[in-house]
Amino acid sequence: MDILISGASIAGPALAHWLNTYGFTTTIVERAPALREGGHAVDFRGKAHLSVLRKMGVLSDIEREQTNMGALWNVNEAGKKLAKMPDDIFAGDVEILRGDLGRILYERTREKTEYIFGDSIAELHEDAHGVAVTFQRGATRRFDLVIGADGLHSNVRSLAFGPESRFHTYLGLYNAVFTTPNHLGLDYSGQGLNVPGKMAASYSSRANTEAKAVFFFGSPELTYDRHDTDEQKRLLADAFKDVGWIVPRLLEDMWKAEEFYFDSISQIHMDRWSRGRIALVGDAAWCPSPLSGMGTGLSVVGAYVLAGEIAAHGHVDGFAAYERIMRDYVAGAQKSAVGVSKFMVPDNKFMAWFMNQNYKLLPYLPWKGIMAKSVRKTAEAITLPEYPGARALRPRPSGRAS
Ligand SMILES: Cc1cc2nc3c(=O)[nH]c(=O)nc-3n(C[C@H](O)[C@H](O)[C@H](O)COP(=O)(O)OP(=O)(O)OC[C@H]3O[C@@H](n4cnc5c(N)ncnc54)[C@H](O)[C@@H]3O)c2cc1C
Repeated sequence: MDILISGASIAGPALAHWLNTYGFTTTIVERAPALREGGHAVDFRGKAHLSVLRKMGVLSDIEREQTNMGALWNVNEAGKKLAKMPDDIFAGDVEILRGDLGRILYERTREKTEYIFGDSIAELHEDAHGVAVTFQRGATRRFDLVIGADGLHSNVRSLAFGPESRFHTYLGLYNAVFTTPNHLGLDYSGQGLNVPGKMAASYSSRANTEAKAVFFFGSPELTYDRHDTDEQKRLLADAFKDVGWIVPRLLEDMWKAEEFYFDSISQIHMDRWSRGRIALVGDAAWCPSPLSGMGTGLSVVGAYVLAGEIAAHGHVDGFAAYERIMRDYVAGAQKSAVGVSKFMVPDNKFMAWFMNQNYKLLPYLPWKGIMAKSVRKTAEAITLPEYPGARALRPRPSGRAS
């Protein structure tokens, strides 16, 4: 089968990897002109995530490039440390910058997968034998299946299932991430400031040679052009214009930042992730929001299951089995993110103070273990099928899988 995937971030290349393994022909179309760098550090936690990465042969590559992040402190506007975040609850088993993970997956698939950058699907016409795809740049090609791995604002979802507004739930926050100099001299660590309804943080990355600036702010849902980075930078600058600490410096850096990520904290809820010969995977299907800490792990697991089921049962039964296997797992991750925003970005001073007291005391409180276990349980709440062709790849000494 000839399979077209829309989106070259995490879910798309992970899916292509598995489809290539099973002998399918894969093409990925990505709207950006090149592989997109940037983004926050992403976590994998628990047996399911790690087992899929190991089977893909990329776990050792990821471990080699992991962030090795240490303590994250909440500070006040004068920079005084107030409380250390409980990293055994929030941190995963392995953490890597999203851009580094994307590059590893791209390198793993580029020989077998045809990548088309700077284009997008304009039209999809499905018939009994396949899908005719018209690309924005004008080409028309036929594929047996089309998979949308094109994120929260999925194009394939809009074309095949209906407008985003039908599936989108806004969770009340916006999030921005970009790279800055390591102003605070952070040593594998981070600091964050909460003021009512806002959070700004800086953590070191790439062996302390730079830092990531991360912002969250509460707001009614905003209307803005998602392709206009300057407009998004203005929204962020406006939201943080009165905030102290190192925020004014970070906002100055923002105007020079090449990789700038800005989006709403949202979820996608759909009754079905497939229709005929078209299916969705990753954030396009079920975005659980960054507050779940599981978006990337779910994408990788979803790609493994989707490809395995197509290979084992063909697309009709395969899509149905994929939905059955993933449904509860996704629902658990989505549920875990609801309500987190009011603790992570308190909207008043008392709550911010209360959370800091909580973080200080947490190491000594009996329910700390229960909280850590519950996060892990959500990440492990799936029985991964074994697919005959999905042998565990052994990494080569260079770190590339054989
Ligand atoms: C550059 C970047 C930075 C990110 N930074 C963060 C972050 O800091 N914090 C966070 O929580 N999440 C971030 N994310 C989202 C995060 O990667 C996902 O939540 C998660 O990893 C699931 O990945 P995904 O592949 O399903 O979706 P995504 O990572 O969102 O990838 C979707 C891909 O589809 C592409 N695409 C979109 N529309 C089209 C189209 N019409 N045609 C073709 N391709 C299209 C996008 O360019 C992107 O490469 C970022 C994503 C990107 C692309």
